[in-house]
Amino acid sequence: MSELNPYQSLRTQIDEAANYVDVSDGELERLKTPERVVEINLSVEMDNGSTEVFRAYRSQFNGDRGPYKGGIRYHPQVTRDEVKALSGWMVYKTATSDIPLGGGKGGIIIDPREYSESELERVTRAFAAELRPFIGSDRDIPAPDVNTGQREMNWIRDTYETLENTTEPGVITGKDTSSGGSEGRVEATGRSTVIAAREAFEYLGKDLSGASVAVQGYGNAGWIAAKLVYEMGADVVAVSDSSGGIYATDSLDPYSVKEHKRETGSVVGYPGAEQSLTNEELLTLDVDLLIPAALENAIDESLAGDIDADVISEAANGPVTPTADDILGDRDVLVIPDILANAGGVIVSYFEWVQNRQRFYWSEERVNTELDSKIVDQFQNLVDTYERRSLPSLRTAAYVLALERVLDAGESTGTWP
Ligand code: NAD
Repeated sequence: MSELNPYQSLRTQIDEAANYVDVSDGELERLKTPERVVEINLSVEMDNGSTEVFRAYRSQFNGDRGPYKGGIRYHPQVTRDEVKALSGWMVYKTATSDIPLGGGKGGIIIDPREYSESELERVTRAFAAELRPFIGSDRDIPAPDVNTGQREMNWIRDTYETLENTTEPGVITGKDTSSGGSEGRVEATGRSTVIAAREAFEYLGKDLSGASVAVQGYGNAGWIAAKLVYEMGADVVAVSDSSGGIYATDSLDPYSVKEHKRETGSVVGYPGAEQSLTNEELLTLDVDLLIPAALENAIDESLAGDIDADVISEAANGPVTPTADDILGDRDVLVIPDILANAGGVIVSYFEWVQNRQRFYWSEERVNTELDSKIVDQFQNLVDTYERRSLPSLRTAAYVLALERVLDAGESTGTWP
């Protein structure tokens, strides 16, 4: 999220939010520190018979509001402090969405491209076996993150269930619908980004129908957001991916752009576009709504002064740097923070967990309706907090609201011993 150590960034953000919250120094320190960080060195046999050691972590940051929840990433740059920070951000995300879960995160230092499928399976199962005492549907519920997906989740679930001699699909989320996953999960992140934007437009007295929209990134989150906003009657005037962007005054058709990307590997070259754009040009277009759905730090201080959108709905995690955030605030650009805008993923993971526990599965329509009302309610709570306390931004409001929810939960249960 910034050049700073991510764990230090998290602590600074909590300190900033704490300026608006009645909290003692001791309590604040507790809320800035993970409850537990497990470090494991996995010895795994490779296909050629040799042994390799992989360092892995699981950070359980705060469980005052419910079981820890957060993904597991496989990446060569995973560090202990990154995992700690990511687990803390999950505490904020689950609290802002008001779902009864805490925050956790895990990771293995590994470049998965360098290993065979059977090696990755042994690495994953070794991690699951070591994590077994710490996870469970009432303890800690992992999910996919960077470079992990349904395949890894299935291996973890199977290892856990075999060793525990039970069936417990709710030990992990992000599963395929055929193995206990939820309808609507794949679309959930793009969907919450668009619902939050719709609410922001209503708050500003504007209509999303007929609005002009630019979307950076055309992967899972970006393409779904473009499709849904188009279905609501908005004009998707520009989209991009890592190869560049495309523009059409009267709207692109997100479905045929998706088809073009599937065939050619990129949105660039789409025949229905009027012109090509760079990603920087896309981000600074004069549009009603901008949806950054690619990378963190996409909008930094060098670009913030040129942003010409009225509303930004953050599908990506951390797409606006803290300095850029201040500049956008001064220029009256309404930024819907990632911890609400892209919370659809974790909210539908929560629905998956609920369905797994009940052994009763919902229709896609029900999932989407429940997600819609969650985002509507929490957007309203953010706006109320922002206005009532005269806070500098919706992002600060989100952090203040989340911090107070975690504090209230901790205070009501007390500390043992
Ligand atoms: P993805 O890999 O499916 O898509 C990423 C897209 O960004 C691709 O189209 C890629 O070409 C594009 N991209 C990469 N580098 C770019 C660059 N320099 N300029 C422009 N475009 C670039 O990923 P995703 O799942 O859609 O995730 C996108 C963002 O949303 C990430 O920040 C992710 O953390 C966040 N997010 C995703 C989910 C989810 O459920 N998918 C949930 C929460 C947050």
